[in-house]
Amino acid sequence: MKIAVIGAGIAGVATAHELAVAGHRVCVFERRGGVAAEASFGTNGVLSPALRPPWATRPLPRPPWRSMPTLGSWWLRARRAAAAGSAHDEAFWALARRSIDRLAHWRSRWPAEYERTDGVLYLWREPAAFELALAASDRLRAAGVRVNALDADACRRLEPGLSAAASISGGLLLPQAEAGNCRLAAHLWRDAAEQLGAEFRFGTSVRAIEGGPGGAAVRFEQLALTTGFAPAREGNEAGRNRAGGVGTERGGAQALLRQRALAAARYLAPVGSETFDAVVICAGTEAAALLAPLGLRLPLQPQAGQSLTLPLRSPERGPRSALVDVEREVTLTRLGERVRVSGGSELGPARKQPSERSMQPLYRALDTWVPGCAHLARPQAWHAARACLPDGLPMIGAVPGHAGLWLNIAHGNAGWTLAAGAALRIAEALDGRGVVDPASDPFAPTAARF
Ligand SMILES: Cc1cc2nc3c(=O)[nH]c(=O)nc-3n(C[C@H](O)[C@H](O)[C@H](O)COP(=O)(O)OP(=O)(O)OC[C@H]3O[C@@H](n4cnc5c(N)ncnc54)[C@H](O)[C@@H]3O)c2cc1C
Repeated sequence: MKIAVIGAGIAGVATAHELAVAGHRVCVFERRGGVAAEASFGTNGVLSPALRPPWATRPLPRPPWRSMPTLGSWWLRARRAAAAGSAHDEAFWALARRSIDRLAHWRSRWPAEYERTDGVLYLWREPAAFELALAASDRLRAAGVRVNALDADACRRLEPGLSAAASISGGLLLPQAEAGNCRLAAHLWRDAAEQLGAEFRFGTSVRAIEGGPGGAAVRFEQLALTTGFAPAREGNEAGRNRAGGVGTERGGAQALLRQRALAAARYLAPVGSETFDAVVICAGTEAAALLAPLGLRLPLQPQAGQSLTLPLRSPERGPRSALVDVEREVTLTRLGERVRVSGGSELGPARKQPSERSMQPLYRALDTWVPGCAHLARPQAWHAARACLPDGLPMIGAVPGHAGLWLNIAHGNAGWTLAAGAALRIAEALDGRGVVDPASDPFAPTAARF
């Protein structure tokens, strides 16, 4: 089949690759100049089933009163779904585990690494909260997720950089969970997809999708000469990564000339339309805007968060893998010779620049848990929004009543974790393998979820 993928975030590159592996002709439309330029850029880096935790978490904060007319009903729906509880936790954990396994399968074939570390340690300060979490973690164990309960000393042996002054009542280690640089993995996935023939059209924004008897037509607009005239391997962000050792140089002068000619042709005719047998929307927070003209009103909301990435001054004092301060909802992740601190979950789109106020809890967490490990000068601050549905579940599958239209969206705070598994589900379902009955599939785009 000839398949269009809209969006080259982590969901889009994983989907493009999995479809190319299955033998499809894949074309990825991405409005930005490279992969993982939006929500997938500066994530916490954690791949863990416990991104949907069995233990109590802080309820989603109420939006400011001035935003209640637009966000209020969504917020109430999300609060009701959270209070109704855990009916779909097991399905989420199973998908997360399958996804982590699938990623392991692919990374063993990749030519480079993506700053991966094993295990995620969840930490509690309050003894009562830890006791409750310990009891709740039995559900994860029953679902086949390994969970090791640790006292404060064992946490410090595992993570020697943990501050002696930090109050720790206990920790839960998920040894099968892991951490890694989502953006680097996206570049590796793109390379692997291209080697299988997938085409990436950067600087190309999809304006509309139109259904028809011959398939789905994608109307797009060329925004900028971000590829072709300045191709990835000649110096843009992806090129620098490759020069830094990620990926391999491929293709000769002929291929480069062809790529430039194609980009030039597209620039001269910046608006175009092309028909595909299927279209998979992986457009993150923009998915709702693409679906609205088709009469599909998706209650998708952006939820903003931020991260701070700092070079390590004393690598031995930094985290060895990922540490999660469960009560403050801040994660500290080792990424090579850097530490990333991230948190925040605020309904609404991300600002252009993260505010200083939103960064303060991140600096505080660094100082509380692993003080003195990082150079505080020249931090890389990042702010972005993940796309969420009020039921807190991703939406993966075919849209009923719209032949050839597929969704792989709404991954919320777990898009990196779920990328490989969600992509595999899409590829299997498109080929009629492993089909799940939408009525019993909590991730299916059923009418009730719109
Ligand atoms: C602070 C923070 C921390 C996080 N930490 C973690 C974590 O530790 N673990 C985890 O699993 N998840 C984490 N997440 C969630 C994860 O980042 C997201 O779920 C994931 O990146 C979503 O990927 P995506 O590909 O769906 O969306 P995106 O990465 O946003 O990609 C969508 C792409 O579609 C493109 N696009 C949109 N509209 C169009 C159009 N019309 N035409 C062409 N292109 C278009 C966009 O330019 C974009 O590149 C975190 C999120 C945040 C904000």
